Amino acid sequence: MPLTVWILGDQLLSPHPALQSLEKQVLRQEIILLLIESREQAQRLPYHAKKLVLLYSAMRHYADGLRAAGYRVDYRVASNITEAITSHWQEFRPNRLVTMAASSVRGRRFQQSLAQKLGIATHIIPNSQFLSGVYDPLPDVEPGQLVRQEQFYRGMRRQFKLLMDDQGRPVGGTWNYDQKNRQPLPKDLTPPEMIRFEPDALTKQVMVEVGQFDHLTGSAAGFDLAVTREGAQQAADDFYTHRLPYFGTYEDAMRQSAPVIFHSKLAAYLNIGLLTPLELVRAAEGCYYDGTAEINNVEGFIRQVIGWREYMYWQYQRLMPGLGAENYWGSANPLPTFFWSGETRMNCLRQVIQRVLDAGYVHHIERLMLLSNFCLLADIHPDQVYDWFSSAFIDAYEWVMAPNVYGMGLYADGGQIATKPYIASANYINKMSDYCLACSFDKNKRTGEHSCPFNFLYWHFLLKHQDKLRKNYRMARMLHNLKFLDDDEKAAVQAQAQRFVGAMDN
Ligand code: SF4
Repeated sequence: MPLTVWILGDQLLSPHPALQSLEKQVLRQEIILLLIESREQAQRLPYHAKKLVLLYSAMRHYADGLRAAGYRVDYRVASNITEAITSHWQEFRPNRLVTMAASSVRGRRFQQSLAQKLGIATHIIPNSQFLSGVYDPLPDVEPGQLVRQEQFYRGMRRQFKLLMDDQGRPVGGTWNYDQKNRQPLPKDLTPPEMIRFEPDALTKQVMVEVGQFDHLTGSAAGFDLAVTREGAQQAADDFYTHRLPYFGTYEDAMRQSAPVIFHSKLAAYLNIGLLTPLELVRAAEGCYYDGTAEINNVEGFIRQVIGWREYMYWQYQRLMPGLGAENYWGSANPLPTFFWSGETRMNCLRQVIQRVLDAGYVHHIERLMLLSNFCLLADIHPDQVYDWFSSAFIDAYEWVMAPNVYGMGLYADGGQIATKPYIASANYINKMSDYCLACSFDKNKRTGEHSCPFNFLYWHFLLKHQDKLRKNYRMARMLHNLKFLDDDEKAAVQAQAQRFVGAMDN
C-alpha cells in the first residue's frame, strides 16, 4: 500500500525533509508525492500576479524534478485543498499521509484536522524551514515575557556559531555595526542591475493561466524571477558578488532610480524553500573570511536573516492568533485607494507604490519608513494595512506579514515585537532618499500650502498619542520637540492632518 507525502507550495526544499525522514523506511516506488494548487487560496486576497506565477511555476518545476528523480507525483489543480486531498485519497488509497508542519497557524490547524475530518492517518513532521524551528535559542521564555530582537539575534549567532570567535565572542569585537551602516547613497555610486531570468515554456504557460485571473494585483507580464533552486542559487551568487559588499552600508538608503539598491531580493525564494536561511548566512560569512565583503556589510545581512526574519517567525508562532487582532492606537481610517493605483501627489509614495504594483517588491526600509510609516501616521486600520501588504508583495506570507505589519510597522501590538514605533517626518525621508527633489510638496514645511503630509501627520500623531508614547523612553526625544510648537502651531497641525486624512480619497 502506498503512502502519500504532501508537499506544501511554500516548502519546495531540496531534499524535502519528509522524504529524507522516509528514506530508510520506505521504497521510493511506494511514495506518492502530492502537490496542490488551490484556487480557493489564490482567491483569498488580490495577490500580486507575479507572486502566483513564481509560486505555481516553482511548484511545477519542483514536481518535474521529483518525477525525474523517479518519484510518482500527483500534481493537482483544485478548487480547494480539501477537495484535492479527498480525490487523491479516493484515487490512490494510500495508508497514511506524511507532511511537514505548515508555516502558518491556519495551515497547521488544517493539517491537524485531517485525521478527524477526513479519516486520514496523518503524520506531521516538524517544520525545519526556519532555524528557530530547528533550535529555539530562548527556550525558557514565559508567556507574555518580552524578548527583544537583539537578545534573540545574539542567541542565534551563538547557537549557529556565525561570525563568532573561538572564545564565544563576536568576530570584530562588536555585535553590530550601526555606526558604519545606514548611510545615504552617495550621488556617484550606481547600484548594479539585478539579475533577470527569461521565462521558459513552463513559466510562460503559468503566466498565461495567471493572466486569466481577474482579481489580482499587478500583472504577470515582465516576470523575470528564478523558478528553480538552481536559478535561486544563481540569484544568491549574484548578490554575494555584486551587492553584499555594500549591503550594510546602504541598507537604509532609498533612491528613485534604483529599486533594489544593494538588497538581496532573495526573500521570495527563501520563503518558498528554494533557498534556506543557513546556506545564505554561511555563504555571506564566507565572503567575510574570503575578504570579498567587510564585516559591517556581512553582519548587516546575517542580522536580517537570522535576526529579523527568524525573529518574526518566532514571534508569529508565539503571538498568533491574538497578534492579528491588535490595534494599540485604535486606528480606524480606511486605506486610501491610491495604495491600489499609485496616484498620489506624494512623490515618495507614488514611486514606491507604483513599483510594488509593477514588481511586487520594494526593499525593507521603503516598506517600513515610507509605506508603514505613512499608514501609522495616518491612523489606517491595521487589518487594511495587513491585507494590502499581504496582497501586494511577492514574498508575503502570513508568518512574515502579521508580525511585520501589526508589530514592526504599525506597533499595533503595543510593543511586543518592536521597541518603539517607527515614525518619521520628511526630514528622515529627505536625508535617506532623493524622492523629495521631485515632489510638489515642500519637505521643509510643517503646515500650510504645499507642506509635506509626512510633516503635519507626524506632529499630529505625536500630539494625539502623546500619553501612550510617553510610556516608551525611546520616544522621549521626539516628544521633547513638541515643546517647540506653540498652541497655534499645534492647532494648525491638527486641523491640517484631519483635513488631509478626510480628503485622502478625494
Ligand atoms: Fe515624500 Fe514629503 Fe518628500 Fe514629497 S516632500 S517626497 S511627500 S517626504
